[in-house]
Amino acid sequence: MPDIKLRKFPWPFQAAMAINSDLDNTCSGECYTTMMDYLNSDRQTPIGKGLALETANSIWFYNNTTTPQVSWFNGTGKERNTYTARLVELMQSGHIDTLHTFGNFNEGGFKREHALAALDELEKLGVKLPVWVNHGNKRNTQNIGYWPTFFGAVPSAPEYHFNLVKEYGIRYFGLGKTTHILGQDAANNPGVYFKNNLQKALRYTKYRNLPESPFDLQNRLMWQTTLQDGSRIWEFQRWINPWGGKSTTNLPDLARQLDPKYLHRLIANQGYLVLYTHICDGLNIQTGIPAEVRRSLEYLSALHKDKILLVTTTARLLKYYEVSRNINYKIITNGNQADIFIEPQLSVLNNSYQVTPNDLQGVTFKCKPTMQVTLYLGRERIKCTQYETVGHKKMVITVPWVSLPYPC
Ligand SMILES: [Zn+2]
Repeated sequence: MPDIKLRKFPWPFQAAMAINSDLDNTCSGECYTTMMDYLNSDRQTPIGKGLALETANSIWFYNNTTTPQVSWFNGTGKERNTYTARLVELMQSGHIDTLHTFGNFNEGGFKREHALAALDELEKLGVKLPVWVNHGNKRNTQNIGYWPTFFGAVPSAPEYHFNLVKEYGIRYFGLGKTTHILGQDAANNPGVYFKNNLQKALRYTKYRNLPESPFDLQNRLMWQTTLQDGSRIWEFQRWINPWGGKSTTNLPDLARQLDPKYLHRLIANQGYLVLYTHICDGLNIQTGIPAEVRRSLEYLSALHKDKILLVTTTARLLKYYEVSRNINYKIITNGNQADIFIEPQLSVLNNSYQVTPNDLQGVTFKCKPTMQVTLYLGRERIKCTQYETVGHKKMVITVPWVSLPYPC
């Protein structure tokens, strides 16, 4: 077997994360889009100079509560809110990637017809949202999973909608698990080992009566789960904080969540991470971003710009994770030449997924410095870049990771 190995992260990053934000309590459509411009563009915005990060947001189609919320339709009707033209652009560019359930039904009232109308709207727009995240309290019965008030995937329930969601094509599901470990699928260093064992102990003591564990006991970013209707899905967990206990995750909390010492711990742990927040909750456009939040976000932006910590959207991070950890490949060598053939079919879920060249962005192999490597997906040759690592000890062959263009 030639000395060629798959690298964990896109070259040259040492860890990877996404900011996954629930849109609860976003003050207005303007708050929503201003925050997106601040996070993703590099221009001056009303709340500060853009950070040039790559982050996406979540969306609701309905608001059936008495609180003001950002949603696609006005209330539970079929009339679009005035700010949706900009949201279409953000959906189409990949900067809205998460359906935070079909809407805010924290005061009850969800019906399967709501799912039908929302998915019909998405089909009309030609937009695919790859990620689902559960929302709200026990009255929001459309949620998916095994908690007693979650009926979204229970075929006998009137709220059942999962067959529609599956047909539409949502692939990654956050069903409520949150972890305190700084990096999932992390290197097994003492800090990670200790925290993981602590979480396991809590599952069998403090959390022993819960219907399921509040975190993944194996500290994985994502795993395959079977729902009540027999559907197989990818379930992922989000990271809440490193200090334990549930707390709020709104804009002011980001200062502490993204403290540089935690970011460096994530990098040292070589982990993946989906950060749980409500990034517009607490935003006031007049007073702007709290100074300590701004400092943390600017530090994160610098780590991303320096290609140490990859920051991307939840959908892209999970796709990279899914593909890079599950592709099958064979290597044929001839002297210094090596051809790597990746099988197009991915052996996950129902085995029907065909990897596209675009899905391979970031996939990186390491080999001896003298090797000449060619990469194929099936029979198609894939454009790669080769680099010698510092000290010329290794060569890396990488499918370039291309930033999502942000529509300004
Ligand atoms: Zn929510």
